Amino acid sequence: MEKNCVVCGMPMVEPADFAGGNPESRVCAHCDTSKPPEIRVTTYGLFRAKPGQGAQLAALLHEHVEFVKKLNGLQETFAGQSLDNPDHFLVFTKWEDFSGHDRMAHAVLNDADARRTFQEMMDVLETEPAFGRFAILE
Ligand SMILES: [Zn+2]
Repeated sequence: MEKNCVVCGMPMVEPADFAGGNPESRVCAHCDTSKPPEIRVTTYGLFRAKPGQGAQLAALLHEHVEFVKKLNGLQETFAGQSLDNPDHFLVFTKWEDFSGHDRMAHAVLNDADARRTFQEMMDVLETEPAFGRFAILE
C-alpha cells in the first residue's frame, strides 16, 4: 500500500523511497534526518618536495590525481605548482557529498598502485604534507 511521507507528503512506494530503505518508516529517504547532511566537501593537500625534487613529485602527484579522477562523487580535481617555489604543490578536490573524501582515503589505502604512489611521494617530500577539508558554503 502506498504511504505518504509525514514531512513532505511524497508518495512512498519502493523500499528505496523510505528512510533507511525501511517500509515501516513514516518519512521518505529525502526527509531522513538520521543520515549525514548532503554537503559538498572540498579538500586540499599541500606537498613540499625536497629541494630540486619537484619534477619527481609532480609526476607522482599526476598519477595520484589520475587515480582520484576515477572515484565516485568527484566533481573536480587538479594539481598545482607554486609560482614561488617549483618544489611546492597543491592538490585540490571537490566532492558532491560528505563521504567523498572518506572514500578517497579508503581507496588510496586499498588500491595497491595508489598506495605505492603515495609511499613513493613520501620519499621525495621534505616535510609531512598538510591536508584540510571544508564544507562548501557557496
Ligand atoms: Zn519526505
